[in-house]
Amino acid sequence: PARRALLAAALGPAGRRRLPRHPAPAAAARASSGAGGEAEAEGPGRARAMLRHLLLKLRATGPVTVAEYMREALTNPGEGYYTRRGGIGESGDFVTSPEISQVFGELIGIWYISEWIAAGKPKAFQLVEMGPGLGTLTDDILRVFKQLASLLSKCDVSIHLVEVSPKLSEIQAQMLTGGKVQSNPEDKSVYMKGISKTGIPIFWYRDVQDVPLGYSFYLAHEFFDALPIHKFQRTEKGWREVLVDVDPEVPDQLRFVLSPSSTPATQNFIQPEETRDHVEVCPEAGVIIQNLACRIEKGGGAALVADYGHDGTKTDTFRGFRNHKLHDVLSAPGTADLTADVDFSYLRKMTQGRTATLGPIKQWEFLKNMGIDLRLQVLLQNSRDTATREQLLHSYDMLMNPKKMGDCFKFFALLPHHRLARPDKKHKPESESPLPPVAGFSELLLK
Ligand code: SAH
Repeated sequence: PARRALLAAALGPAGRRRLPRHPAPAAAARASSGAGGEAEAEGPGRARAMLRHLLLKLRATGPVTVAEYMREALTNPGEGYYTRRGGIGESGDFVTSPEISQVFGELIGIWYISEWIAAGKPKAFQLVEMGPGLGTLTDDILRVFKQLASLLSKCDVSIHLVEVSPKLSEIQAQMLTGGKVQSNPEDKSVYMKGISKTGIPIFWYRDVQDVPLGYSFYLAHEFFDALPIHKFQRTEKGWREVLVDVDPEVPDQLRFVLSPSSTPATQNFIQPEETRDHVEVCPEAGVIIQNLACRIEKGGGAALVADYGHDGTKTDTFRGFRNHKLHDVLSAPGTADLTADVDFSYLRKMTQGRTATLGPIKQWEFLKNMGIDLRLQVLLQNSRDTATREQLLHSYDMLMNPKKMGDCFKFFALLPHHRLARPDKKHKPESESPLPPVAGFSELLLK
């Protein structure tokens, strides 16, 4: 009931955001099925620049790890896929949940508010989003915060965006501030700042380590899947790393090869008890999670990670997307999105016990627990025209249907230990009220 009241207060009666005019194609989500629009529009010359750069590098210094290849293709400061914008959205290469439905971000906004209330309404919090894409998710969350202005009136809220892509940071600035930002290219940490349309200060960084410490809510939606992975294969001679090299048979083409012997990565990242024959590891994700766990342990707050992924069971998930279709990861690098499933078991391990973790749970389950059905009903009741109603039902189906995004996308949270268990249970006075369940994951706490 309390959640219902919060939902009703936070969301208002109607859709605030223009819904996409065309329903996203069923196979549009990256997880179920990407590039092209953007890259092709720029002409083949642009597309070849990255390939030329890589061929030169490989010919000069030999094969590189998949992680190195992925980093170059996605975030090379000149020609990287995300550096140049990335094809997020219907006209691009892949579409994400916040782009599909405003409800997604609204419910995430409510999640943070409910955690803020459970923490005793601290006087200030930072919302830190990593890889904010077009800025839509933060925009939807800010709308919820505005709707709850009276609840948050005594709270000092600020937004901190971690984004490496200059193009995307411009798009985010336009979306969130209407373009009223101040750039500080000289500043080593905050490269841009502004004030949101709703009056909240926003800061941009390249690295989460540069965000000031303080009570913070972290958010990573489809961020970890874009970070570079190492790939390993078991052979008769032991573990070998998969590398990217020039194909000697076909001009200007890349191919995968196996390292002739073990590499520093095979020695450091493969667990002795590993049973799979093919393993992907994303050390950068590990470093970031370790950092978030330290920050939450020291400064308080919570982190919500939503992505497609598994719990340490999958093998070969490295893939490319262009124009909403699967794309050969080695062809035309820099023109397609490259991605790999997130290994949540690795993320959990990398918290090193500094925080508690919840999940991963399936997206449909999380959204259901957050009250998506109630929100859909309100929006349907308040929309008169059939096209809008159809759009609402269609986007609900995209997010919730287990065959679309409902099952393969997961939610995972980092919370301070004291949020889930009282430090000293033995001396708990009878009168003490139970800890409130964590919204979205609530059934996990019923045990
Ligand atoms: N969260 C958004 C966008 C997902 S795409 C959405 O769900 O729609 C991945 C985002 O992460 C892009 O904004 C990309 O530029 C950013 N990104 C990729 N690698 C990054 C890195 N190493 N550091 C910071 N941001 C990164």
